[in-house]
Amino acid sequence: MSVLQHLHRNSQRISQWLFPEHCRSCGVVGAALCSACASDWPRLPDEVCSYCALPLQTNGDCSVCSVEAPPYDHVYTHFVYAEPLSTAILTWKFHQHLDWTRALAQTWAESWGDQAPSRPECLLPVPLHARRLRERGYNQSLLLARYWGKRWHIPVRPAVLRRRRNTRHQTGLSAAARRENLDAAFNLRGKLPAHVAIVDDVMTTGTTAAQLAELLRQGGVQRIDIWVLARALREMVPTHA
Ligand SMILES: [Zn+2]
Ligand SMILES: [Zn+2]
Repeated sequence: MSVLQHLHRNSQRISQWLFPEHCRSCGVVGAALCSACASDWPRLPDEVCSYCALPLQTNGDCSVCSVEAPPYDHVYTHFVYAEPLSTAILTWKFHQHLDWTRALAQTWAESWGDQAPSRPECLLPVPLHARRLRERGYNQSLLLARYWGKRWHIPVRPAVLRRRRNTRHQTGLSAAARRENLDAAFNLRGKLPAHVAIVDDVMTTGTTAAQLAELLRQGGVQRIDIWVLARALREMVPTHA
């Protein structure tokens, strides 16, 4: 170990001792998100649509997916985009609380037990437009993909999906207007494997996921999973995502 690495490691230990990590939700010392707060995250029921993960009375497909199956295969998440998780995600995403990344990504990962939810050959984070990326300084989907990729040894390929133009904020737009807004918003780069997972923080109407999946299908991908922290329910579309 070099002298610099040694100094770096020791300064990290000292700062952890001086400023111990505390839960950003309740303040208890120990971790950025304590297990009690993580267990408060609203969970989806066992019966969800086999495609888009919306809650159902029984197993099967929802009324939308049974009429026309979406271009992706399956949405993987256990969580509903509702309080207190929704505030946590918004704070993380819009207020530079990057120390939450690990807590959010880890809690999601642990909800699957030891195994990854599926075994894609690579993870594709939903891209931000260059201007949005400059404003925010980071792409939250890439942060999640990096954590999950490292945990389960799956390559992350952030350059495959690209945003063509700066789409308007989706907030307040109808599903049809969202589709139009995203039309021709993405393109593909590079060779693709047969099985991929698109990574995003929240799935709202599913328009972005469907559009990216459509593009990947055209590019020859056979199986497309969607990995998201949380699923917004139709009647409670969030304000920012
Ligand atoms: Zn807590
Ligand atoms: Zn569905």
